[in-house]
Amino acid sequence: MSIAPQSIGFVNCDWTPFRAAHDHAVGSPNIEPSTRREVSIDGKKIRTIDIHAHCAVPAALDVIQKTPERSDLSMEDKEARLASMDKQGLDMAALSVNPWWYHLEYEAAEAVIKIQNEGLAQICHSDPDRFIAFASIALQHPDLAVDQIEYGVNNLGLRGINIGCYVEGRELSDPFFHPVWAKCEELDLLVFMHPRGTNEMVSGGRLSGGGALANTIGNPLETTLALSHLIFEGTMDRFPGLKICAVHGGGYFASYAHRSDAVIRTFSNQRVQACCKHPPTHYLKNGQLYFDSIVFDPAALRYLISQTGADKIMIGTDYPFGWTTTEVDLVLQTPELSNDDRIAILGGNAARLLNIPTE
Ligand SMILES: [Zn+2]
Repeated sequence: MSIAPQSIGFVNCDWTPFRAAHDHAVGSPNIEPSTRREVSIDGKKIRTIDIHAHCAVPAALDVIQKTPERSDLSMEDKEARLASMDKQGLDMAALSVNPWWYHLEYEAAEAVIKIQNEGLAQICHSDPDRFIAFASIALQHPDLAVDQIEYGVNNLGLRGINIGCYVEGRELSDPFFHPVWAKCEELDLLVFMHPRGTNEMVSGGRLSGGGALANTIGNPLETTLALSHLIFEGTMDRFPGLKICAVHGGGYFASYAHRSDAVIRTFSNQRVQACCKHPPTHYLKNGQLYFDSIVFDPAALRYLISQTGADKIMIGTDYPFGWTTTEVDLVLQTPELSNDDRIAILGGNAARLLNIPTE
């Protein structure tokens, strides 16, 4: 394995001190490493894993003279990142880089991804108890992406891959991507899918105005569209071993999927053009779709779990974008969950899906 010197960094984020009602552990507002919050259930410490944690690898951006989306993605102060995790009670973070390279030609994409994945591997190897990472891939070049998956997983020790919801005019259900899904299925990899923004709606003006709608609505809408294409157009059936983790609670799909079932019943299949073997809600439960917990409210999380099963949910923070710093407490405070459910959502499911050894 060759790992070139890279810089990768993290940043602290706003944090609100808390004390969970059902948590036996102690939280602290201080930033010292000694204040690491341990999360316990029934008096036993459990391992917590953040499935949705962003970062950037500056050396990869340098290849095409690109500046980071925001500077705090590429800060080199790893200790600040760890301090934030310590306060939140997060033992591990699964790092991912939001795809910004889908427009690149083959050679540039090859160079960028190699540097980026090796940079991710370097940070993981330096703190194997705290960080794992999804491999980046050049999804716009499927044959290259397949090679990058194999190198990233087999040579660099990365776990799963991360992708966007839409690639240069192609939906993920396009047969163009089949070789990538086949490789993920073959290697039993989790695919972490994150939206990149509904640019066509932004340019049309529908998401302008107050409320930061391009993010607030656009991102979960894009996830909803991607999942709907993958299901209705038969991709999930063609690759029954494909496992996708949809962020932000799966957008609007997971909480409104019964309308997708209803459209098949309501109209003729000729009009709906549904190629799926099962009603769309089937895929919420069958072990192909997974979701992070970023839905903000115990009742919303409870409903999501009721549609998917607790074994499909993993905590996520969207770090460093600041959407939430209390995901551990959200899970602890969500009603009608067993302790086994909570342990699974807080870290057990991620450990299983990402093949993280038991402590
Ligand atoms: Zn995110």
